[in-house]
Amino acid sequence: MTVEVSRSLLLHLPELIEIQRLVSHAAKDLVRVEELVTVRHKDLSLPVMALEIGSKDPKSPAFFLTGGVHGLERIGTRVIISYLKTLTHLAHWDASTRELLARVRFCLIPIVNPIGMYLGRRSNGNGIDLMRNAPVEAQAGSRVGIAGGHRISNRLPWYRGSVGAHMEIENQAFVKYFEETFAKSSSVIALDVHSGFGAVDRIWFPYARTTAPFPNLQEVFLLNQMLDKVYPHHIYKVEPQSASYTTHGDVWDYLYDRRRVAGGSVFLPLTLELGSWLWIKKNPRQLFSGLGIFNPLLPHRTSRILRRHLLLLDFLMRAAATPAMWCQGLGAHYSADDIQRMANARWYEKKAA
Ligand SMILES: [Zn+2]
Repeated sequence: MTVEVSRSLLLHLPELIEIQRLVSHAAKDLVRVEELVTVRHKDLSLPVMALEIGSKDPKSPAFFLTGGVHGLERIGTRVIISYLKTLTHLAHWDASTRELLARVRFCLIPIVNPIGMYLGRRSNGNGIDLMRNAPVEAQAGSRVGIAGGHRISNRLPWYRGSVGAHMEIENQAFVKYFEETFAKSSSVIALDVHSGFGAVDRIWFPYARTTAPFPNLQEVFLLNQMLDKVYPHHIYKVEPQSASYTTHGDVWDYLYDRRRVAGGSVFLPLTLELGSWLWIKKNPRQLFSGLGIFNPLLPHRTSRILRRHLLLLDFLMRAAATPAMWCQGLGAHYSADDIQRMANARWYEKKAA
């Protein structure tokens, strides 16, 4: 796959060029590239690309990293590129990185919504919010505001698309890729990078559609415990997405439930939601920039954010490669019942005032 480098692409979607350059500079055969679909909008035509590094065994445990679902949230894609750079350089000379990659399948879709990112908007070319577009209804009675997905008009953000319509082609390609690639994986950890909500960096786990407990709560609890022990000073708040808000049409809820019904192996779809309100507080002028609510604008802050999440991505890659630790609780000091009880108490039981 080669995208022609034009002036407009350099101006509007430099991330795509950077990914292409990175792939071509990586060690021979290190990165495998696949074009999932070409998305067209007016005279634009852009690819959704998937990259794959590491084990080729379809049964290997997998780590799946995605970004750019919302076109405005470019910082997510840039965090992914930054990690990709580190990893591909390490793979040149570091034997432990190569050994790690031999045990795990590392797959990425760095820009799920290239048209949205090119145009600098949240939705795709059809004005549809890809993370509100899956055939998933929020739990009856839950309070879903307009930001949780609506069918009023594609001129408003968070539009789900019309009733009964197929998923958008970006999502169709995404779902197909996920289900084909990971059908036989012994376990999957996914991380979807977003920005724009809250003042702290959050790691969300399902569900988005309901406040009901997530079936793989024990695995999330153990993974969280590993993170706390490995990086005791980490900055992340780990919680179910529904603790912040509930939505219709979440693609990760959709993929998770389908895999569960099909009897697939453990799958933890996590979302990294970068808390941008802090950047705005430190630099209120950002509020007046279209991108400023979702992306740091000052160079030193951007660098800090690109550095700051490398540890998390490295941690998740290692955890994905060693599923026995969080799938079977190797090294856990508690029984499965105790873990379930503690996880419920942490995330789902109302705290007394
Ligand atoms: Zn987002």
